[in-house]
Amino acid sequence: WGLLCIYQCSAPREWQPREIQFVQKIATQLSVGVYQARLLEREQQQRILLNQQNLQLQEATKAAEKANQAKSIFLANMSHELRTPLNAILGFTQVLQRDSSLETKHQQFLDTIDKSGKHLLHLINDILEMSKIEAGQTTFNRVSFDLYLLVNNLEEMFYLKAQSKALQLSMKIASDVPQYITTDEGKLNQVLINLLNNAIKFTEEGDVTLRIKRATNLNFDNSIELIFEVEDTGIGISSEDIEQIFTAFGQTAAGRQSVEGSGLGLAISQKFVRLIGGKIELESQIGRGSIFSFKIPVEIAQTNKINSSPSQYKVIGLEPGQPQYRILAVDDRHESRQVLVHLLTPLGFVVREASNGKEAVEMWSSWQPHLIWMDMKMPVMNGYEATKRIVAQMKEPKTIIIALTASVFEEERATIISSGCDDFVRKPLHAHDLLAKISQHLGVRYIYETPASSLTNKKTLQKKNNPERQTLEQLERLSTELLTQLNEAAEIADNLSLSSLIEQIPPEINDLATSLKNWLSQYRVDKITDLTQQALNKKM
Ligand code: ADP
Repeated sequence: WGLLCIYQCSAPREWQPREIQFVQKIATQLSVGVYQARLLEREQQQRILLNQQNLQLQEATKAAEKANQAKSIFLANMSHELRTPLNAILGFTQVLQRDSSLETKHQQFLDTIDKSGKHLLHLINDILEMSKIEAGQTTFNRVSFDLYLLVNNLEEMFYLKAQSKALQLSMKIASDVPQYITTDEGKLNQVLINLLNNAIKFTEEGDVTLRIKRATNLNFDNSIELIFEVEDTGIGISSEDIEQIFTAFGQTAAGRQSVEGSGLGLAISQKFVRLIGGKIELESQIGRGSIFSFKIPVEIAQTNKINSSPSQYKVIGLEPGQPQYRILAVDDRHESRQVLVHLLTPLGFVVREASNGKEAVEMWSSWQPHLIWMDMKMPVMNGYEATKRIVAQMKEPKTIIIALTASVFEEERATIISSGCDDFVRKPLHAHDLLAKISQHLGVRYIYETPASSLTNKKTLQKKNNPERQTLEQLERLSTELLTQLNEAAEIADNLSLSSLIEQIPPEINDLATSLKNWLSQYRVDKITDLTQQALNKKM
């Protein structure tokens, strides 16, 4: 319109329609231009803002990565610091447990140290596991394994616990569930342990059942879906609590009262199940029980891909007719070396020690051991360097080097193997794993205390040696009055009254007072309540 005015001023006359059209066209073009220029300006402003935001984001990511790294280092160190002393505690307990000259009473004390140590280890592992998940360090370890055997082992593991509460424990595998499957065995096992442990812990009467079914999908290849269900007839969980029990440290009131457990189990289990392709669902009713279930994809495995599981029985020596095996134990901590020396020497291995990598290299070249247990973190020369030097000079016959590490990180495995180690074992050491590794790499054959037998035989064996059963029988010999008083004091966790009642137990009932005092000092008054109740029921 500005142009129109200028035009009119220079030649004042009536406007021709064509002229108006022409000026309108110019005006339209101009306003389009202005609009486009504004658009460009806005785009540029947005680009600048985006760049700024990107920069901020990059800085924040860098800071988060740094924090994550610091957390990982802290965890690696923590894990080392906590597991190393536990290694000595659990290791020496295992050494002592093999000593058949010990009195029954002392054997029971050792069992207590062993159990408490393992409980502590379990807690440390849970906390570390949770941090590993948060740091994105948890990976899917696909292996082929025998699912029926895994379930058998679970049944053995929980058989006594269920029996001590008079619960019926059943394992039901549908007939179309394949025996050999491929998935992350370790994670599946840990999830089922957690669910079964909870089911037994929060059930006072009735049954606990593990059910495995095949989902009704008709896949023609090797992939199928399996449904796992753990059902109990226990206290149940209210709908308000269902959400929070899957969060870290989330517990119901009953969970908080129970001395066992930290509220991490289900949070870890849910993360594990998600990693293996499923989600834990829960159906529960207060007072009636709960069903925890999940569906995961698995592959049907070929039998020849299965690692045969080493015998569960105690090794008591080496089969005759084998070479004299030389084993070198390398660790800067005297007590860690001693665990290896005391476990292996009585079986017939010749064991020597080195306290750092430098000594290990020297001893290797002069003594030529068949196998080296190599700690990785040592002063003077660490395990990585020592392994590299030994491997560089190694000729046939080769020495097997197995790394000992207190780290929890899977990624450490790659570093260890790339330094030349043949395998690695995590601390704390378990006699069973240690011996299995030696046999796997050197082909050593052992003599076992009990011949491999069926599950039922194992159960009878366990029943015979079960200290709780022994205590129950001893409690039944007490007067009904004393038994009732003990039961009432235990129910309200009145430790003072319990202590004075325990003093009244006749000394001829061997070790009963000691067992009860032990449970009292371990905060396991629940066990005293259970057993005194069972003894009272039997008397009535
Ligand atoms: P923890 O058992 O170590 O306390 P979990 O994460 O395994 O930790 O379980 C969290 C909480 O969920 C428990 O403390 C308990 O309150 C509740 N819970 C888990 N399983 C059951 C169950 N089968 N019956 C009743 N409550 C359960």
